[in-house]
Amino acid sequence: MAFGWIDEQADLRRRAGLVRTLRPRAADAPLLDLASNDYLGLARHPEVTEGAARAARTWGGGATGSRLVTGTTELHAELERELAGFCGFEAALVFSSGYAANLAAVTALAPHGSLIVSDAGNHASLIDGCRLARATTRVTAHADPDAVRKALDAHDGPAVAVSDTVFSVDGDAAPLAALAEACREHGAGLVLDDAHGLGVLGDGGRGGPHAAGIAGADDVVVTVTLSKSLGSQGGAVLGPARVIEHLVNAARTFIFDTGLAPAAAGAALAALRLLRREPGRAARAGEVARELHTRLTAAGLGAVRPDAAVVSVRAPSPEQAVRWAADCRAAGLSVGCFRPPSVPDGISRLRLTARADLSGAEIERAVRVIGETRP
Ligand code: PMP
Repeated sequence: MAFGWIDEQADLRRRAGLVRTLRPRAADAPLLDLASNDYLGLARHPEVTEGAARAARTWGGGATGSRLVTGTTELHAELERELAGFCGFEAALVFSSGYAANLAAVTALAPHGSLIVSDAGNHASLIDGCRLARATTRVTAHADPDAVRKALDAHDGPAVAVSDTVFSVDGDAAPLAALAEACREHGAGLVLDDAHGLGVLGDGGRGGPHAAGIAGADDVVVTVTLSKSLGSQGGAVLGPARVIEHLVNAARTFIFDTGLAPAAAGAALAALRLLRREPGRAARAGEVARELHTRLTAAGLGAVRPDAAVVSVRAPSPEQAVRWAADCRAAGLSVGCFRPPSVPDGISRLRLTARADLSGAEIERAVRVIGETRP
């Protein structure tokens, strides 16, 4: 039978307790949300939803074509200018997702015969970029600039190091300044995925590279998503104008993909302007994360010290992580559950996101529910 192997895989998954299912979210869900990536609570902010609605009324429901044909509107150009300016880069290029932005940055900046040095904790989209690139990839120990230096030492020719700025599973930050230095010593480029840093780290949420003093450097390229702290959808690459021009001409996920939907561009632009006007939102997300961590630790729950808005709680096993998250849900709390194959074997996690708009009482309630449902 065609696809017979699918049933075998499904069976293995069922027996390992690793089946994933989709749970449609109701518009008025009564759950306390510590699972979404809406770090600044902007996804439903009236200015953001109005930005989306206005853009759809002006430009239509879709971008109507690829960016190089009809899919670049003045709105896209405005968003790119403001995003680059906010984060401290010369230029930006918007993509239909952060995933596509990462595939673009890695594949287009690692030509045939070059070396990619990739952190062992990198996000799947960076890993897939390495797999697609016609370069050799060396995976280095997590957050280890000396390992990056050694890998670069052993290579002759173009090279690029790639790393998340804040790692999605444990919420720990990469040593950005040291990575930039290691790359600079070797004339290598540095590609950083700031999906979890934008809107949370740096002055007013200008991101991890801005906080580390490396934004705008001519050897640093940053990718972001518009789908987390900006409460919209889409992604972008930020960097020197010559790199952005190269991506326009060489990045397949830019050239062959329909442009970002105007509504998503409008929402992201509105969120960005809000963030500029209300810079305290970024610091608040960090405060909530630290408060969550302090309370979880006091309750004897093994939480990883957060560097941004992701707070990770260790679970004894994948099965227990799944049950724990389900029990939280039954008690009115929505939390993320990370388990293999999304994360390496041996580390399952409840993943909490510290939204800037969580109140002290909500933080307290979340920690109480997590403690009471602990397996
Ligand atoms: N990078 C990281 C670190 C992420 O966590 C994500 C989202 N899960 C992405 C990239 C992909 O971004 P998007 O959802 O916009 O495709």
